[in-house]
Amino acid sequence: MRITKIVETSAPMRSSIANAVIDFSQMTISVVAVFTDALSDGKPVVGFGFNSNGRYAQGGVLRERLIPRILDAEPDTLLDDGGILDPERIHACMMKNEKPGGHGERAFAVGAIDAAVWDAVAKTLEKPLYRLFAERYNEGRFDAKVPVYPGGGYYDAEKGIEGLTDEMQGYRDAGYTLMKMKVGGAPLADDLKRIEAVLGVVGAGSNLAVDANAGLRPETALEYAAAMAPFGLAWFEEPVDPLDFAAHAEICQTYPGPIAVGENLFSLTDARNLLRHGGMRSDRDWLQFDPSLCYGPTEFIRIVKMAQDLGWSPKRHGPHGGQLLGLHLAAGLQLGGTETYPLVFQPFGGFGDDAVIEDGNVRPPEVAGSGLETKAKLYNNFLKPLLDG
Ligand SMILES: [Mg+2]
Repeated sequence: MRITKIVETSAPMRSSIANAVIDFSQMTISVVAVFTDALSDGKPVVGFGFNSNGRYAQGGVLRERLIPRILDAEPDTLLDDGGILDPERIHACMMKNEKPGGHGERAFAVGAIDAAVWDAVAKTLEKPLYRLFAERYNEGRFDAKVPVYPGGGYYDAEKGIEGLTDEMQGYRDAGYTLMKMKVGGAPLADDLKRIEAVLGVVGAGSNLAVDANAGLRPETALEYAAAMAPFGLAWFEEPVDPLDFAAHAEICQTYPGPIAVGENLFSLTDARNLLRHGGMRSDRDWLQFDPSLCYGPTEFIRIVKMAQDLGWSPKRHGPHGGQLLGLHLAAGLQLGGTETYPLVFQPFGGFGDDAVIEDGNVRPPEVAGSGLETKAKLYNNFLKPLLDG
């Protein structure tokens, strides 16, 4: 099996929404196609991948470093013993001549190709990606359905509290039980009113998570924690800067409810430092590393295994990113759940067009690969053009 070509493009991911720290008006995303000479149904297998929302496209790193490294490598060095592309070897090839540390935007570029390679391998072996993850990393065990919640409740100047509660009611009507809203982008008193209004819709604090997007100073985060503790929320996400481990530890000492962090840490080493020094509690807190942003599913799986060695069950992971990749990892590694974005980051966010949300759960698609072809708008507007051009 050979990689014959790798194509990348930058796609817009614009949206009028905002969280506590950023708006999404200029957001872009890198989309990658890895062409191979393997055949499935008589056609060459092509794997697709992209980085995740909330960050930017990485065309320069892809074109100038990663793609040439893979295409210049001796092809046999990229294969496993069965002669199929080996994601771990390709991952190592991409990281050649990259210094340790500084896990920033190159991680998203590696992640996009890594996702595409995994898609190509699963298509070559003609099985859904979650089954491949289960076979290789989880002794064949998988979950047929996965708990899922919508990431939503963004700040939108035109929407107001009524629009927010309408949005949450819409999620309930669509089959979700747990949902998430933003905090920290308004004064605390206003956010408490927003939370109380949403609690009137979702029924119980355990059905609502809040996300401050790392936008609060530590002392303000502690005020939020104290004010929100009586609500018994599902979790308080990214209260402070993702690298301020001491602040995490302080919040964990005083806030009885779960906190959730990880989407803005992009490597195994950063993740391990969080677990070593962030004071987090393996009996309740959530880990939300983003498989597209942290050097791809290959490194994400290493993070899950590392966390397990430090006493964290795979059930404490709920990958950020709200896309099919997270769903396959959650099903194949039996994680605690995953996120989705019914209303934003389309057509990249969310699952297949025919995905059904039932009692807060969703099933991964039963097609070979990650199933991005089951999203018609994504395929027709962004993936098929890569095949043609
Ligand atoms: Mg978040």
